[in-house]
Amino acid sequence: MTGFNTLAIHAGQEPDPATGAVIPPLHLTTTYKQDGVGGLRGGYEYSRSANPTRDTLQTALAALEQGTRGLAFASGLAAEDTLLRTVCRPGDRIVLGGDAYGGTYRLISRVLEPWGVTHSPVDLNDLDAVRAAVAPETTRVIWCETPSNPLLNVSDIAALAEIAHASGTLLVVDNTFASPYLQQPLTLGADVVVHSTTKYLGGHSDVVGGALVVADTELGERLAYHQNAMGAVGGPFDSWLVLRSLKTLGVRMDRHSANAGRVAEWLLEHPGVGDVLYPGLPQHRNHEIAAKQMSGFGGMVSFRLKAGEEAALRVCERAQLFTLAESLGGVESLIEHPHRMTHASAAGSPLEVPADLVRLSVGIEDVDDLLADLDQALA
Ligand SMILES: *Cc1c(COP(=O)(O)O)cnc(C)c1O
Repeated sequence: MTGFNTLAIHAGQEPDPATGAVIPPLHLTTTYKQDGVGGLRGGYEYSRSANPTRDTLQTALAALEQGTRGLAFASGLAAEDTLLRTVCRPGDRIVLGGDAYGGTYRLISRVLEPWGVTHSPVDLNDLDAVRAAVAPETTRVIWCETPSNPLLNVSDIAALAEIAHASGTLLVVDNTFASPYLQQPLTLGADVVVHSTTKYLGGHSDVVGGALVVADTELGERLAYHQNAMGAVGGPFDSWLVLRSLKTLGVRMDRHSANAGRVAEWLLEHPGVGDVLYPGLPQHRNHEIAAKQMSGFGGMVSFRLKAGEEAALRVCERAQLFTLAESLGGVESLIEHPHRMTHASAAGSPLEVPADLVRLSVGIEDVDDLLADLDQALA
């Protein structure tokens, strides 16, 4: 089988037949000349329905996740919304992990709930609780984010797929934190993979985008229909930027993982730091599952300050090389306070995150410089 890095560079990306251009052209066009009414060239008619640059990205994403179909959207949340409104009807229920991304929780609890789609948060590590939460008639989706944002919990994808399929439910895995280089949920039995391509797939903090990848061709058709009918498509330039970034995904993830591993070990030794949350640490509560289903542990590290929220805020503000900002997955290191920033929308809900928590997106800079910055920020 062709290797991951070869696919990342070549899947769907043959040199342009018209000119020989090695890099897939950026097709900035809304519409396409027809050779007589209905005489479409290559099926292209209008760029919401299909665009060659977006198609190239979709082909590449499907190859990297080992799915049959990839679909690119304007953002991760646009991908999630399209998915959930394709597969859920009023009266249906979504079972989701107790620490999903704040924006995912907001979409489900504030936008879909008024349309009659309900949800129940559960601890996805408690498989009996998941089994009990799934009602065969109404539960349409089990939503699993692994590793999760920002607590870095890891869920057993194969075990959740078994529970989902026993009751005709879809298992959706948000694979944003791991990327397909470190984890391929469809090969473990998941039905749909969700990405915020804004993060590691884009990798350079310069594009907002999202994607879905599925194994089943019929589900792929339904999602493609809704992608066009709902219209939250990824634009050509955004698609081109993500395609460009995919080529280096493997080398970036290797460096992210190596740097984050060093940072996590360093934090463990620091007297001001309480829990260090990183799936690569042997003491992480889900380390065994992570080692089983991931080929590396990624670039995200969270930790708690023994001295509480004020200390956490101070570290975020004192860091210099780590930029205080939301988002993650770029080559540059970022630091943030989830309780007040990315996860503020989960305040007061079952998905609220601790106030003494700091989240790092460890970039690919020289790790000694990153450790020196943390050292002064924590001093
Ligand atoms: C950022 C993020 C999203 C949402 O993606 P957007 O591109 O910001 O819409 C979903 N899931 C996870 C895990 C994320 O980090």
